[in-house]
Amino acid sequence: MNVGFYGHVKQYHNIKDEIDANMAEVLESGSYVMGPMLSRFEDELKEYMGTKYAIGVGNGTDAIWLTLMALGVGPGDEVITHPNTFFATAEAAWIAGCKVVFVDCDPKTKCIDPAKIEAAITERTKAILPVHLYGQCAPMREIKAIADKHNLYVIEDNAQAIDGRGDDFKQGELSDAVCTSFIIQKNLGCFGDGGAVFTDNPDIDAKVRKLRNHGSAKRDHHSFGFNSRLDDLQAGVLSAKLKHISEWTDQRIGWAERYTEGLSDVKNIVLPYARPGYRHVFHLYVVETKDPAKRGELLAFLRENGVDAKTHYSIAIHKQEGFPWGKEYDIVGSVENAERNAASCVSLPMFPELTAEEVDYVIEKVKEWDAAN
Ligand SMILES: *Cc1c(COP(=O)(O)O)cnc(C)c1O
Repeated sequence: MNVGFYGHVKQYHNIKDEIDANMAEVLESGSYVMGPMLSRFEDELKEYMGTKYAIGVGNGTDAIWLTLMALGVGPGDEVITHPNTFFATAEAAWIAGCKVVFVDCDPKTKCIDPAKIEAAITERTKAILPVHLYGQCAPMREIKAIADKHNLYVIEDNAQAIDGRGDDFKQGELSDAVCTSFIIQKNLGCFGDGGAVFTDNPDIDAKVRKLRNHGSAKRDHHSFGFNSRLDDLQAGVLSAKLKHISEWTDQRIGWAERYTEGLSDVKNIVLPYARPGYRHVFHLYVVETKDPAKRGELLAFLRENGVDAKTHYSIAIHKQEGFPWGKEYDIVGSVENAERNAASCVSLPMFPELTAEEVDYVIEKVKEWDAAN
């Protein structure tokens, strides 16, 4: 049996009529950029998120750095995050001109460890950038308390966690803005690039709106800006998909439960930890080999058996090469948990359109490897 890593085409077929109708509406309207479908989708998005504003932008990376820029965070300023996230989290802060300060992740959730943040705060620190990694919200109450104490901004990177929430908080409630990505592999994905910023702050809304459109809020009037718009065809695709997101999340959670139950007695593998009361949306179902040296074997075994497993992410950001301007980051304290995560992670197939047979086959193969080790 072959089990793929994504269900994009299956998902398209499942709601083809709804997507095709929205795309046809855009094509017939003649408005393809900053048109009525984008406005409609932005209204639906803010309603869905429960924030006052939602602004569609070109991608998730831009969502972060446009927000930093709107807040006036840039050259000379420091932003705190953790190094076992997708590269773009740090990259966005670099694009905004900031220095990135890495602290360790929590060994269980892999999200930023709030206990490590205060030691990294200097007089240059302006923002904390927690990532809701793998689909689970970072502990926003602790993060917000630290931010308030030190007068810092908080920007949530929820590229992996749309539809998620904490035990007693929702996204956007304990931060200045939430930034998301709509690239296809995310839980709410379009057929190209896309992203959005959510906020309750009218100033961030107005500034990001201008920045994404050549610094223009009014025809022929410009201030310094960029071109980073969510186009109307993508907005149409996303508008159709948004109606299904909660049901898709529930399906992901169901597969995660099936994996966790099926793998409950493995010896050589650590299963993902979900905080009680949180809605972990399982963007990814990431296991870790107890012995990092065996990660490669598990990956190879799964692939040989037709299971498309991947790594998220096998090289921590501070271990990457090719920083163009010299040393743009600091590390405060040990980041050993983040490094162990990078060395031992294996993502099993996780998407709503999986079947019980496929999940059971993956479980069987993981158990087979485990028993041989
Ligand atoms: C995907 C992702 C991004 C960037 O999104 P793009 O749309 O590819 O620019 C940022 N942060 C995290 C955690 C992501 O997973």
